[in-house]
Amino acid sequence: MTRCDVIVVGGGHAGCEAAAAAARAGARTLLLTHNPATIGAMSCNPAIGGIAKGTVVREVDALDGLMGRAADRAGIQFRELNASKGPAVRGPRCQADRKLYRRAIAELLAEQENLDIRKAAVGGLVVGRDGRAGGVILEDGEEIRAAAAVVTSGTFLRGRVHIGERSAAAGRAGEAPAVALADGIAGLGFRTGRLKTGTPPRLDGRTVDFSALAVQHGDSPPKPFSCLTDAVAAPQTVCHIARTTPETHAVVRANLHRAPMFSGAIEGRGPRYCPSIEDKVARFPDRDGHSVFLEPEGLDDDTIYPNGISTSLPAEVQEAMVRTIPGLEKAVVRRPGYAIEYDFVDPRELGPTLEARRLPGLFLAGQINGTTGYEEAAGQGIVAGTNAALAAGGGGRFALDRAAAMIGVMIDDLTTLGVREPYRLFTARSEYRLSLRPDNADLRLTGLGVRAGCVGAARERRWRAKRGAVAAARRALAARRLTPGEAARRGLRLRADGRVRDGLDLLARPEIGFADLARLWPELAACPADAARQLEIECRYAVYLERQRAEIAAFRREAALEVPSGLDFARVAGLSTEARERLAEARPATLAAAARVPGVTPAAVAALLGHLRRAA
Ligand code: FAD
Repeated sequence: MTRCDVIVVGGGHAGCEAAAAAARAGARTLLLTHNPATIGAMSCNPAIGGIAKGTVVREVDALDGLMGRAADRAGIQFRELNASKGPAVRGPRCQADRKLYRRAIAELLAEQENLDIRKAAVGGLVVGRDGRAGGVILEDGEEIRAAAAVVTSGTFLRGRVHIGERSAAAGRAGEAPAVALADGIAGLGFRTGRLKTGTPPRLDGRTVDFSALAVQHGDSPPKPFSCLTDAVAAPQTVCHIARTTPETHAVVRANLHRAPMFSGAIEGRGPRYCPSIEDKVARFPDRDGHSVFLEPEGLDDDTIYPNGISTSLPAEVQEAMVRTIPGLEKAVVRRPGYAIEYDFVDPRELGPTLEARRLPGLFLAGQINGTTGYEEAAGQGIVAGTNAALAAGGGGRFALDRAAAMIGVMIDDLTTLGVREPYRLFTARSEYRLSLRPDNADLRLTGLGVRAGCVGAARERRWRAKRGAVAAARRALAARRLTPGEAARRGLRLRADGRVRDGLDLLARPEIGFADLARLWPELAACPADAARQLEIECRYAVYLERQRAEIAAFRREAALEVPSGLDFARVAGLSTEARERLAEARPATLAAAARVPGVTPAAVAALLGHLRRAA
């Protein structure tokens, strides 16, 4: 029997972040995974980031996580999505070389102190006499003790892969499912359900006629995710855009009954926001085409990932469908697309730290909680790993609320509302998205991470330097003033209203940038570019941000009112039967969370508030 502080089960995106965070926080950590060679594997698209997801990558980075740094080492095309729109909805994204990404994650984990990695299949959880999680049992019967455990088993719990009429038990194509662990979790009484997702076929790039396709270039220069990366070193490449045709749709329509993802042969629910080509054809019968982004899988790999045609049609139908797409008439399918269905745990079993209410000391993160996506998994992993280390160390908690981070929005949605289909993040899920931007993730979160113990010294130094630079530039701008007359003499046109404006007022104007002010006051040119950019955004949106700060203060007053975990809602006077049932099922941690439970009316919130005040 071995012993450590924290055990992490699974080497996917949630597991790697959880293990690294627990180790950074000082816990002796053991990462157990089926196959260490697949650590950091991207099961689906070779890309990191995007709208809302890119914000999560920056948040993970702000907490000293791995994903941003690994993507910077592996990225072969960087693009800021929605670059022409407001800063709240911009989405940094990169196309990643699969091999380079896996290697980068493996290197970062190898550098991490306090962390061991071992090949093992986990078959169950140890429950101590104190009713807490006390470690894991491997499928070969070995028991490994730990003060806390994080399970991040992805799509592997009772996983089943489907291609057309064929199906086989698998956690991912070619990998065995985790059946014993699924039984073990269900045996402890956890509420579980079934979900499904899918992936497109992979194409041989040598058989694609790229000359027939639109080219999509990346940003130049590429902008890294991590504030610890000074520049992207990997060579950059392009993507191409193809489009399905009415012939494509005819092939799909004629074979819909053979697609288990669509026909109902799979019981679990699929991702509405990442639909299969079958879904798109059936849901939008009037559309004559859908974009297909042809993404390279690597610099020395000519496999192409056709983003937009995820499918579970039979292999021969997939090839026929692909060949109706201009540019892909001769394309060879290297590996067919497939659908996978798997067990997930109802995330309402968890609290805001991702600890299981039913089994303290056990934390769950990633796809097991009903989410989909690498970034969603990583964001949960870092929270679960940090909290597992805190639990093993004897106390403290690290929770991010909806006003602190997109990660907080996701965890609150999951643990309060549960999921009915694979959950993914969008900016629209956040009521405070103007504050939760990708550009300010470090200013929002690194300090919290330092306090929780998951942020190392190098990151803390960078954060302090940026915070200091922003504050100094803000003071400098506030101290510099100009009348419209003086501005005109120095080449800046302002309304001739005689009003004296300071540098912050000037920067609020959309036509004036920090560089313009540095021409007026050359001493400002010493301000680092990231701090200057930060101030530009803050000044331009100052009025809205101020309004949002007031809303956040009101939200936090409600969030500060905790709902005791064992509260018997039947004893709360004035609650309707429906509100009682909904609250008992959701078990919201705070009054603010209770207000978001569907079926809980403002009157029910008022009744609960009255009860909490009387009980205080
Ligand atoms: P995973 O990355 O799945 O990692 C799980 C890890 O746990 C693996 O290392 C596995 O070996 C290990 N493990 C499991 N059980 C055990 C055990 N008992 N003992 C030891 N080790 C164990 N996301 C999108 O955003 N869009 C998509 O279109 C999309 N399509 C997908 C299609 C497919 C076919 C698949 C498989 C996934 C898809 N995803 C998609 C999801 C994305 O891959 C996951 O959300 C993400 O990888 C989840 O990360 P994770 O860390 O939770 O789990």
